[in-house]
Amino acid sequence: MKRCTDLVSLLADFVERKLPPEVHGRLERHLSACPRCVAQLKTYQSTLSLLRSIKEEDLPPELRCTLKAFLDRHCGN
Ligand SMILES: [Zn+2]
Repeated sequence: MKRCTDLVSLLADFVERKLPPEVHGRLERHLSACPRCVAQLKTYQSTLSLLRSIKEEDLPPELRCTLKAFLDRHCGN
């Protein structure tokens, strides 16, 4: 089993369902046994839905920066 830090970098693709089925399954099994990663996943998902529900230009610049930094940190680029 991979370490949590390795898996966290896969969460973005996991949410978008871009992972190969066997990797997706492995991550799902890890999530069923690891509350810490589930918490990460939930944070990521709620951030994504927040971003989808608001227009970027409606955000105060400060918050826009925070969200972008959050996403950059979690998309592994
Ligand atoms: Zn974990």
